[in-house]
Amino acid sequence: MSNLSNDVDNLKTKYREIFSRTIEEFNQRVEKIKPQEFLKFLNEDILKEIYEQKLKILESRKKISCTGCAACCKLACSEFSYDELRQKAQNGDNFATQFISVFVPYDTEVEAEKIYPEYFELLKNKAEDEKVYFYHCPKVTEDNRCPDYENRPQICRDFPDNPIGFLPKTCGYTKWKEKVEEQSLKLHSLLEIIEFYKSKIS
Ligand code: SF4
Ligand code: SF4
Repeated sequence: MSNLSNDVDNLKTKYREIFSRTIEEFNQRVEKIKPQEFLKFLNEDILKEIYEQKLKILESRKKISCTGCAACCKLACSEFSYDELRQKAQNGDNFATQFISVFVPYDTEVEAEKIYPEYFELLKNKAEDEKVYFYHCPKVTEDNRCPDYENRPQICRDFPDNPIGFLPKTCGYTKWKEKVEEQSLKLHSLLEIIEFYKSKIS
């Protein structure tokens, strides 16, 4: 499993490098604006840029098709337990509502690990010290089919929506992830930088 740890370590290293470059670029831009324009730059201009770039990234995903490997149906994870997700859904959280309408928890991690050992390990490694809960869709058939693929729920259509997240090796969106990962890490860095400045200002 050391290759999987390497994947996580490589991602962290890549993120640190991108973060350093992004903060340098950010500071160069800040030097060019007047002090009284800084708040607008922080609260509006940069956020607008991030939003537009994220939209483009998601738009480019539409050129790729799901290959129907069913890995995401058989192994989904969340930082929240089923009870916590139910509570969130009751409080109006849309994602939690969708998630528990499709997925149920594995009884044990051993069961989840048996399904896709490598993907399981990746998700566990990524979570580091945080607890992670594993789920599966009870509808997926033994031959890896969705019984109503054309009418699958939105949460299934949206996977994967985060190019920074790890994908199962069989996922048809791997090429998309590889193409947009660096840009996504940069946007993630920018959001971190913005949050830092905002916390300093407040
Ligand atoms: S509803 Fe269909 S596409 Fe969605 S997780 Fe279940 S089997 Fe997969
Ligand atoms: S893991 Fe990727 S290719 Fe496989 S079913 Fe899910 S979205 Fe489709």
